[in-house]
Amino acid sequence: MKKQFAVIGLGRFGGSICKSLSEQGMEVLAIDTNEDKVNEFASIATHAVVADTTEENTLKSLGIRNFDHVVVAIGDNIQSSILTTLMLVEQGVNHITVKAQNDYHEKVLSKIGAHKVVHPERDMGVRIAHNIVSKNVLDYLELSDEYSIVELEAGQTVNHRTLIDLDIRAKYGCNVMAIKRDEEINVSPSADEVLRQGDIIIVIGADKDISRMEKDLFDEDD
Ligand code: ATP
Repeated sequence: MKKQFAVIGLGRFGGSICKSLSEQGMEVLAIDTNEDKVNEFASIATHAVVADTTEENTLKSLGIRNFDHVVVAIGDNIQSSILTTLMLVEQGVNHITVKAQNDYHEKVLSKIGAHKVVHPERDMGVRIAHNIVSKNVLDYLELSDEYSIVELEAGQTVNHRTLIDLDIRAKYGCNVMAIKRDEEINVSPSADEVLRQGDIIIVIGADKDISRMEKDLFDEDD
């Protein structure tokens, strides 16, 4: 059976989630108080309804607890976002993802039981900052305040060298999780794997260690 999603709030963020889920063939209920927004998504989502999700009875009549995953993408109105989330938690929705506007909002949402809180502007800002500091960092995923996963592009410094020769684990305390070469992905590569310029290397480690490794082995002018 197809997974059932509901997206509350059809601004740029919620709208893009709704569109992407629909394109992936999921069943999506799109909800907004704004009729124009709902009309815009009527042909994209499986169903689109005008509703105020801060009203408990409205949520009940939509049968919201039967959805596998509900995304709350109400932006500016923090009070509505918190109230909606609280009611989704009370009604026992299994997976609730909420967009936070700021750190305080994020704290409250986590406290009241949101399963996942996202902060798209901040997270994208961190990613872009990493990308522009070093052009060899292709992508970046923060695991905690101290640990991350990064994608690095192999340049001349590591060309034709093996992982054991580069001694990444001992010298930098980082682990190479995978190497992407063209369309192939080599997961958990062996120590004698030879790197080639242009390979994408996916590394997990502490930020300070990744940073050291990046400077020594991947930071090239062009
Ligand atoms: P984005 O940057 O993603 O566009 P935003 O911060 O501009 O987000 P808003 O426009 O504030 O987000 O809110 C997103 C949508 O949520 C709006 O279309 C708004 O009508 C809708 N919305 C706000 N409150 C409610 C509510 N109580 N129930 C349902 N929808 C709501």
